[in-house]
Amino acid sequence: MNARPAFDLIFRNAVTRSSPTPIDIAVAGGKIAVIAPHLVCEAAEIDVAGRLALPGFVDSHIHLDKACLLGRCGHIQGGVSDAIRAVAAMKRDFTVEDVYARGSKVIERAIVHGTTRMRTHVEIDPRIGLRSFEAIKALKRNYAWAIDLSICVFPQEGLTNDLGAEELLIAALRDGGEVIGGCPYTDTDPDAHIETIFNLAQQFDVDVDLHLDFDLDPSWSHMEEVCRQTERRNYQGRVAIGHATKLSALPPDRLQAPTTRLAKSGVAVTVLPATDLYLMGRDATHNIPRGLTLAHRLVENGVLCSVATNNVLNPFTPFGDASLLRMANFYANVAQAGIGEFDACLDLVTELPARLMNLRDYGIAVGNPADIVVLDTDSGPNAIAELPEVLMGFKRGRQVFERRRPTLFPPA
Ligand SMILES: [Zn+2]
Repeated sequence: MNARPAFDLIFRNAVTRSSPTPIDIAVAGGKIAVIAPHLVCEAAEIDVAGRLALPGFVDSHIHLDKACLLGRCGHIQGGVSDAIRAVAAMKRDFTVEDVYARGSKVIERAIVHGTTRMRTHVEIDPRIGLRSFEAIKALKRNYAWAIDLSICVFPQEGLTNDLGAEELLIAALRDGGEVIGGCPYTDTDPDAHIETIFNLAQQFDVDVDLHLDFDLDPSWSHMEEVCRQTERRNYQGRVAIGHATKLSALPPDRLQAPTTRLAKSGVAVTVLPATDLYLMGRDATHNIPRGLTLAHRLVENGVLCSVATNNVLNPFTPFGDASLLRMANFYANVAQAGIGEFDACLDLVTELPARLMNLRDYGIAVGNPADIVVLDTDSGPNAIAELPEVLMGFKRGRQVFERRRPTLFPPA
């Protein structure tokens, strides 16, 4: 054991997903400097005591701009189109301050649940203009101490049918939009919608993240067109589709072809369990289909997948705390994942969304930013099974939150 120069901080006895034996993680200048057992050095110390350290959760799909609307929208109990209509009506009254206040509430919840990276979709259209976008840009700046926020701009109400939407999207891409999204199923010309989104993506050299195939009718799909455009433009590894609930309606023998197609064209899939379960199968009176595409099975067949939050406390999903660990646990439960698949379920909210977002500096490895969260458990599978508390979180080596374990007071 050699004496080492002083570090800024050292985590002692941390279990990681690659090291079930506790190791030490030393931090210098906001980055992970050394990972080794029993480091001898001078630094402020945090004894993790054999608990699981993760590089934070990665939320690849959330809507901060339309979160926390429950108090405003009365009693909406419909399907996808009812939810879109309800939010479209409320959106006209959104102000920058209002979007900022609701977004910050969700972002703070995400931070204390251990999320260190996030891609938020922001609606851009003539109803809202760039007001939500301005608020989200301010959130990105003001919470950079705790979370890396990536901004995906998209036309929720359609593009070719919504005069002025494209000009606004271009303005957003010129001024801080980092990814372009889309919603072909709300457009009167879905293929032209997809074509325009890919044109803009290439023009601004940004990745693509579409809302797609969000129903349970497998007789038609926009997926082939997305795969075709992805290949045509050499965009493999830069395209994701959210929901893809149609895949859940396919029997195994018919699921093989689209699975192979997605894998071959490098198109990733984000499953959004809370919204998918809440909005799908609304016409069933009993034996309601879950509408949940089995992401971990697609991963086994070569498709890059993630599980993400999507909507929080609005007509699309009147639930939510922005906890990705809870979402992964929820997914595993509904997907009837076996214990041997729990690790794969944890991948869906950590390593895989990081790859989907093309984050090249994610993970507990030397040289990466010291983004570390500590869970009150001792392994990845147990994190999914037990839904432990996230006890503390660090961004670039600086502590951003702490959660104390509950104390019991038995009678004397
Ligand atoms: Zn979404």
